[in-house]
Amino acid sequence: MKDLKQQTFWFITGSQFLYGEETLRQVAADSQAMVDGLNDDPALPCPLLMKGVVKTNAEFTELAKAANADDRCAGIVVWCHTFSPSKMWINGFSILQKPYCHLHTQFNRNIPNEGIDMDFMNLNQSAHADREHGFIAARMRLARKIIVGYWEDPKVRHKLGDWMRTAYGAAVSRSLKIMRFGDNMREVAVTEGDKVGVQIQLGWQVNTTPVGELAEEIAKVTEADIDAQMAVYRQAYDLATDNLESIRYQAREEIAMRRLFERDDIDAYSNTFQDLYGIRQLPGLASQHLMAEGYGFGAEGDWKTSGMVAIVKAMGQGKPGGTIFMEDYTYDLTPGAELELGSHMLEVCPTIAAERPRIEVHPLGIGDREDPARLVFEGRQGPAVLCTVIDMGGRLRMILHDIQVVKPTLTMPNLPVARVMWRPEPDLYTGCECWILAGGAHHSVLTQQVSAEQLSDWANIMGIECVHITQDTSAEAFKKELFWNDLAYRLS
Ligand code: MN
Repeated sequence: MKDLKQQTFWFITGSQFLYGEETLRQVAADSQAMVDGLNDDPALPCPLLMKGVVKTNAEFTELAKAANADDRCAGIVVWCHTFSPSKMWINGFSILQKPYCHLHTQFNRNIPNEGIDMDFMNLNQSAHADREHGFIAARMRLARKIIVGYWEDPKVRHKLGDWMRTAYGAAVSRSLKIMRFGDNMREVAVTEGDKVGVQIQLGWQVNTTPVGELAEEIAKVTEADIDAQMAVYRQAYDLATDNLESIRYQAREEIAMRRLFERDDIDAYSNTFQDLYGIRQLPGLASQHLMAEGYGFGAEGDWKTSGMVAIVKAMGQGKPGGTIFMEDYTYDLTPGAELELGSHMLEVCPTIAAERPRIEVHPLGIGDREDPARLVFEGRQGPAVLCTVIDMGGRLRMILHDIQVVKPTLTMPNLPVARVMWRPEPDLYTGCECWILAGGAHHSVLTQQVSAEQLSDWANIMGIECVHITQDTSAEAFKKELFWNDLAYRLS
């Protein structure tokens, strides 16, 4: 996977020759000062590189070509200091393949009462120029992020930093490799999808690896390898079982999977309890620890959610909170205090754990294998977003749902898996009605690191539909939005 810290963003200032050389020198100096100021802010995860003041069609076209060709360029940020006629941007935008952010700001914060004259107006006319610039992007139907505000304000810098992470998520997507162990769970519909269509749209390479090959790799792991992995587990988790053999087998599986992932440069994987030929346990602890390291995972052959887990984890790296693979399970329908309980049969990523996870060993009712070791814990409280991607036939739809993760209201001492409890927005009934109306899966990415705005912007960059259930959502309006979107995608 690409490293966020190795990515750069290109800052390009729009202008023209009309105002003379002195003005252009000032535009360049002000732009450099703005870029330097932004680069000093830790809210930006990647450096901005000043790529010049664009005055002609040829200049921007050359920059667009160079941006496309540079693997470390994750996107461009454009701002117009002076007026910059937009026909000169058309040819470059026609070929630009990198995410694009229009930063609508201006160099000065205030209007100087004595200092303002026509020279000042000619130099500082972003309000004017950025409208011309915005028109051509609208006319060309470009996917873009518009950030409005003063460039020294923390809010603007955080938006820009978040967008950089979003654009990085697009780069991760376009080189994502997913390893499938086994097929989709028999008869399940929502986890299916058009792998060719997804590779065309999102760039994901989704390919199978025989489960027997994993079994062979598992057999090659030595006791010394397992001892080292056990030390890692002991450092991170409490061992709440005497069945060390089960934990050691999970260590063996984790080592074997990581070797296959490193061999094939894999970012995410799926497996299924229905295809464990030659394997003694469904990976539980093994998958949980691999997810904690940043690998995407989807159970029951769910490669779509697996890919999204990897991408959202990449976008959120270094941010507080967790990003996990999640499944809807059961409700508490106490009137006025309705909650949902999510979990999985084993594979809940511990980056969301509120406390130090415990390794426990329990029987698994399905899959007909040995009792697998797994991490058990409660999810951390706070706002979060659920994200799922479904295949509507010929196109993808992302569904986002704002939720509030709460401390579980029950201790559930006999529940042998990690658990997360939440209150869906705007309320459980409306939220679930809308999710089901949209066709949302029972699998999702639950993230406390990446915002719904970032995920929606990511969907926009990738050219897929996105609907978002918020505290303001009504089922009536949501139903119409789905209907209109269906029409729009049929026409496009
Ligand atoms: Mn599942």
